[in-house]
Amino acid sequence: MINLSTDVKFISGVGEIKSNLLKSTFNIYTVEDLLLFAPYKYIDKSKILKIAEAAQQIGNNVLIIGIVSNVSIQGTGSKKRMIAILNDGSGRVELLWFQGFSYLKKFIVPNSEYRVYGRLTKFSNTLSISHPEIEFIADGNYNALGIEPIYNSSQTLKNNKFDSKAIAKIIKTVFEKLNKEQVVDMIPDYVRSKFDIIHRYEAFKNLHQPSDLSQTQKARLRFKFEEFFTSQTELLLAKSELRMATKGIKFDTSGELLKTFYKEYIPFELTNAQKRVVREIYDDLKSGYRMSRLLQGDVGSGKSMVAFISMLIAIGNGYQTAYMAPTEILAQQQYASFLKFANQLGLEIRLLTGSTKTADRKSIANSLVTGKIDIIVGTHALLEDWVSIPKPGLVIIDEQHKFGVAQRARLQDKKSEVNVSPHILVMTATPIPRTLYMTQFGDLDVSVIDELPPGRQPITTTHIFDNQKIKMYDFISKELKKGRQMYVVYPLIEESEVADYASLMQGYDEISQRFPAPENQISIVHGRLKPEEKESEMQRFKKGNTNILVSTTVIEVGVDVPNATIMIIESANKFGLAQLHQLRGRVGRGSGKSYCFLVTERDLNEIAKRRISAMVQTQDGFELSNIDLEIRGPGDRQGTRQSGKVLFRFADIVNDKAILEAVRKIVVKIIDHDPDLSKPINKPLKDYILNERKSKTDWTKVS
Ligand code: ADP
Ligand code: MG
Repeated sequence: MINLSTDVKFISGVGEIKSNLLKSTFNIYTVEDLLLFAPYKYIDKSKILKIAEAAQQIGNNVLIIGIVSNVSIQGTGSKKRMIAILNDGSGRVELLWFQGFSYLKKFIVPNSEYRVYGRLTKFSNTLSISHPEIEFIADGNYNALGIEPIYNSSQTLKNNKFDSKAIAKIIKTVFEKLNKEQVVDMIPDYVRSKFDIIHRYEAFKNLHQPSDLSQTQKARLRFKFEEFFTSQTELLLAKSELRMATKGIKFDTSGELLKTFYKEYIPFELTNAQKRVVREIYDDLKSGYRMSRLLQGDVGSGKSMVAFISMLIAIGNGYQTAYMAPTEILAQQQYASFLKFANQLGLEIRLLTGSTKTADRKSIANSLVTGKIDIIVGTHALLEDWVSIPKPGLVIIDEQHKFGVAQRARLQDKKSEVNVSPHILVMTATPIPRTLYMTQFGDLDVSVIDELPPGRQPITTTHIFDNQKIKMYDFISKELKKGRQMYVVYPLIEESEVADYASLMQGYDEISQRFPAPENQISIVHGRLKPEEKESEMQRFKKGNTNILVSTTVIEVGVDVPNATIMIIESANKFGLAQLHQLRGRVGRGSGKSYCFLVTERDLNEIAKRRISAMVQTQDGFELSNIDLEIRGPGDRQGTRQSGKVLFRFADIVNDKAILEAVRKIVVKIIDHDPDLSKPINKPLKDYILNERKSKTDWTKVS
């Protein structure tokens, strides 16, 4: 007897060598893996046609039965061929072979009955099939052949006589030994009947041994559903368990501090999106549960103010707050922007980065412990062991994609004396399409700022070919004469740093010839510079001592020079869509009209063309990230986990979006009613999830 977790080597006819091949080529370890290995197509041999009917199907594969006669060999040399006539009473078909004559002559017995399958062609009124599959009819078995599954089989497998047919045979053996009782369905009956989803056993059967092709569709739907269903359950169950296990700090009031800030100091009215998001965050903070929230907002959408307001709520309730940025420059920038408000409100704010002096570190450590510091802003220096925050109420992590998951976890671990974990707000300017977010970050709640502050001018984006740069430069020199500043960005193209450096220097020469000193001054930033040198070049540009910044992609996300209104991106086709969008976000930050030029060669592949035209057409980060997801092929968007395991074999988050949405809804409901899946009706589901967890690194502990 076998079950789904049986090692494939125990299936009769497989053994050590073949099972190793299955493991190394297709990651097939167990019977379950094998059954989830879907045929990539099917050949329908389920209908026997009369030759007269088949004549309507020229060009298709047909299955016919007839009597063979007139077997002859004709022609010579390369034209030599064997011909036989197949007749079924309704018509005649010529069967043709160009090789293998001696075997065929023995096999094809005139006036006997054969079952023939192949592609039917017609030439000057004669129907024919070349090199048909042909089978002698023994024992009066006139049945059709059914539907044949065709499996992907690598060359190595084929070399070991392990082709599609051999795989089909093994699977047939499996079904002889496996009965329905051994296939527990993790999708509860009440869900399956609601969505008309077939049982798992039936789905395996229909996938590999369908009796008609519509069954394979039902099987595929079942497995798409299953993939979404189990992954959503994993994420939402983890979230629910975390919620039950960790107490959150309850903030009963939004606090006097926030009121004062609103009344006296806030420099602008919040956008509606900012108001909504602040409300969502406050609802979490007062719920008694710990917040785990992802705040998405395009570049410039005003996430900092939302962060600051959230911190004021925490401080107003008597807690300390931490704000972690991915780079030193960004930490400094953020610190500077909070400092003014903090001073107005009489709050203690400190900056801690890698370059903070020892003496300052000591004083920071002290002031943290005594509770004097209300806001600590920093880089990952905040994660160092000596940093102890006795009353952490809220931790904000900016640009989450630059931090590893593990680092996120460490910051959260800075628990307070009373062992409650702080609320977590993760902020990102990289818009994540909803489908991707659901499948990868489905354990975080999400808030979206989908509106920019008023008065932003759209950035004019133009696609330029290399040989049109003269016109572009003419236009730009007029802008520079008005006192504007410009970025010129080169991609990291080659693997070699030397080659990158060379192409950057060539670009630098071109720019300095076209925009000569003394009217123009150029900063240059690249990977070979020391951090201090980079910083000083950036500062010269920021202060306006230089009006042009030439760089490789090291310009930091979040760099803010409002007077810079021109962005040239060289070899723009070498960048991903998200990166292009981030780079363009460096301009359009002030009151001046801004321009972005995407420079490419003329010969672009389809993907590059679509990316560039998307950039020209829209500035909406969410729209761009959706387009990006569509442009990437299904293989590239399946979404892999931390463990690197492929999440979806059947489902595709773009084409099967509707299924994902439906699944998400039902899983949310299930977890709402049964937060730890302890009800008997959900037991198979819970067992399945626990088992999956065992086979993965336990990353569910992380936010
Ligand atoms: P990001 O989301 O990229 O971090 P910031 O918080 O840096 O964006 O905000 C970008 C700019 O917009 C800042 O100069 C900020 O002061 C300004 N800003 C933010 N919110 C508003 C608003 N509601 N009205 C006007 N300006 C705003
Ligand atoms: Mg920001």
